[in-house]
Amino acid sequence: MIEPSHYLSNTVKDLKPSGIRKFFDLAAGMEGVISLGVGEPDFVTPWNVREACILSLEQGYTSYTANAGLIELRNEISYYLKEKTNIDYSPKHEILVTVGASQALDVALRAIVNPGDEVIIIEPSFVSYASLVSLAGGVPVSIQTSGEMEFKLQPAELEKAITEKTKAIILCSPNNPTGTALVKEELERIAEIIEKHDLLVISDEIYAELTYDDVYTSFVSIDGMAERTILVNGFSKGFAMTGWRLGYVAANSEFLSAMLKIHQYSMMCAPTMAQYAAIEAMKNGKEDVLHMKKSYRQRRNLFVGALNDIGLTCHVPGGAFYAFPSIQITNLSSEEFAEQLLLEEKVAVVPGNVFGESGEGYIRCSYASSLDQLQEALKRMKRFVQKRV
Ligand code: PMP
Repeated sequence: MIEPSHYLSNTVKDLKPSGIRKFFDLAAGMEGVISLGVGEPDFVTPWNVREACILSLEQGYTSYTANAGLIELRNEISYYLKEKTNIDYSPKHEILVTVGASQALDVALRAIVNPGDEVIIIEPSFVSYASLVSLAGGVPVSIQTSGEMEFKLQPAELEKAITEKTKAIILCSPNNPTGTALVKEELERIAEIIEKHDLLVISDEIYAELTYDDVYTSFVSIDGMAERTILVNGFSKGFAMTGWRLGYVAANSEFLSAMLKIHQYSMMCAPTMAQYAAIEAMKNGKEDVLHMKKSYRQRRNLFVGALNDIGLTCHVPGGAFYAFPSIQITNLSSEEFAEQLLLEEKVAVVPGNVFGESGEGYIRCSYASSLDQLQEALKRMKRFVQKRV
């Protein structure tokens, strides 16, 4: 008999399992649960996009594509980025189609991190960042943000976290889990520090299409930042295509060829049929994206207003589809809150502490659920909170 753990890599052994999964598993065994836990759109991918995939299969397009992705798709991504960021990314040399934004983050980190390099993460953050940095051989360094500041990165905090080992910082606006979206002036203040310390930025803009109040500003459109930024984006959120597993990176050609090397050995190419679907999404998806955005915005307004009425204080999230309310009035920890709410009222939310230290005292609720479900969840949450104050 062998002892498998004896053979495992120490890096993998040290990785913490995602705290989100634990709550999914608990909720999966129960009936009548309203889940505000999952981070994905409740829309099915628009029909024309699904049809484009079916058509590609009917035509027999079932082989590998170019490593970097179909050139038609890279062309579309290039037009799209020009419109959104005003930067010209060369489809041939500066765009790589990946298996979701997840793989985009992975190749970006592996392309730039040397053992021991520090990568700054702003918490509360998407759960994968720290683990992906560790898997790339780097050291994740977290900066905490506070609810009073709507979880916005304060430039002075960034300055403090930078050492001579810092290689890059991961930005995510609009943010998962807080929904916080940074405006141009805030990004400019961050850019000044990035420039001063000669750092790179991985800008995760997966929620860019879901920005509700201010005009969306991509980090690459801040003066001088495009050359030192690896832009990560994808189809999962704005285009309602989570299961298709399609994303992309855009960056200066030297970064891009480094990422392409990793991608061609580890992945070959992103799924072919998903790429055909994505061409259609980019060509003809604008109206559907706007329609979905409008619907999330309406739900955000209702949901966040009601949370504040219950006493779960919540800033108005500028983007994504998450509310991140404070649970302070209940005197419960975020794990206690999430567990008791699930068991007593059958509403699944994610405890804030899984997103980092500063997430403690908060919960993440996804409002990508039907209005009826949201109303019912709010009724149950109100009852739950009233019992505790
Ligand atoms: N970045 C963030 C901030 C996310 O929330 C997610 C998905 N939850 C991803 C990246 C990964 O998205 P994809 O489905 O494109 O891999």
